[in-house]
Amino acid sequence: MRVLVVGGAGYIGSHTVYELIKDQQEVIILDNLSSGYMELVHPEAKFYHGDIRNKSDIENVFKQEKIDVVMHFAAKIIVPESVKEPLEYYYNNVEGVRILLEVMNDFGCKKIVFSSTAAVYGEASGICKEDMPTKPINPYGETKLATEKMIQWVANAYGFHYVIFRYFNVAGADKSLKIGLMKDQLTHLIPVAIQGILGIRDHLTIYGNDYPTKDGTCIRDYIHVSDLAYAHVLGAHYLLNGGSSEIMNLGSNSGFTVLEVAQAVNEIAPLKYVIGDRRDGDPAELIASNEKARQILNWVPKYTLKDIVLSDYQYRKKISKK
Ligand code: UDP
Repeated sequence: MRVLVVGGAGYIGSHTVYELIKDQQEVIILDNLSSGYMELVHPEAKFYHGDIRNKSDIENVFKQEKIDVVMHFAAKIIVPESVKEPLEYYYNNVEGVRILLEVMNDFGCKKIVFSSTAAVYGEASGICKEDMPTKPINPYGETKLATEKMIQWVANAYGFHYVIFRYFNVAGADKSLKIGLMKDQLTHLIPVAIQGILGIRDHLTIYGNDYPTKDGTCIRDYIHVSDLAYAHVLGAHYLLNGGSSEIMNLGSNSGFTVLEVAQAVNEIAPLKYVIGDRRDGDPAELIASNEKARQILNWVPKYTLKDIVLSDYQYRKKISKK
C-alpha cells in the first residue's frame, strides 16, 4: 500500500514510518517541520515539506502520488500551551484536518488513520472504554474530540472509512535507536526521569503523593511507541481490507504508579526524586481497556515498562553525546 504519513518527521509519526517500511509499504511524508526533524525521516520514505493548513501543499502531494490511505500525526499536543493559545490549536488540529479531508475527498482517497488521545475522556478515572462519555477538560482534548466528530460526519456524508486511535501514555524509542523523542520536547514522566539518571537534571519532581491509589501517586498506562506505531500498520491493512470505521484505545490494559515508574528507572541507575504539589488537571488513574484493538486488529503490545524505560534511556544517552 501507499501511505501518506502527515507528520512523519515527528516522534510517533517517525516510528510509524519505520514500522510501515519494515512491513514493506511505500511511505510518503508531508511535514512542516515545526516540531519534526529531518533526522527522524526514514531514508526510504519520500519527503514533502508542507503544511496541512495550506491546501495547495496537500494538493501538490496528491497530484504527484497515488495514495491508498492517510495517517495523520501533525498535531499540536502540549496541554498548557493549548490553554494559552486555543485558537492556534483549533487552527492546526481542527482546521488543518478539515483541509486535509477536503483534499482527500477531491482526490477520491477516503481512508484515514487518525491519532487521537485519552485526553478526550477528561477527568475520567479508572479503566477507559471507548464508549465512555467524552468530556475533555482542556483545548487540546477538545480539538481532538472535535476532529474525531468531523471525521465521523465526513465519513457519513462522503463514504470515508476511518480508524481513530486514542493514545494513552506513549514512551520509548525504536530498537535501532535511530529515532526517539528529541531533547527539547520533554515534560513527560519517563524522559524526565531518565534525564534525572543521566545527570541532565538534578532530580525528578513527583507531582503529588496524596491521590487515592496504592502508594498515593497517579496511575497511568504506558505503551511503547513501537507497539503503538505497529497498531497503525494493522489499522491501515484493516481499512484496505474493507474494515468498518472504528474508534480504538491504544494502551496496555494495566497501570503503574509514578513511584513504580521511578523505581523502574532507578533500576537502571540511581534516581533522586522529591515529592511536589499536585499538577493541575491530573486524574488519579487512567488505564486503557485495549480489548477492542486486540479483537479487531489482533494487536498485542509486546514491550513491558522495563523495555520502555530502557529504550528511552539508551536513546537519550545516545543523543546527549551529540
Ligand atoms: N509526572 C510527575 N513528574 C514529572 C512529569 C509527570 O510526577 O516530571 C506525573 C504526572 O503528574 C502524571 C504522570 O506522571 O501523574 C504522567 O504524566 P505525563 O506528563 O508523563 O503524562 P500525562 O498522563 O499527563 O499525559
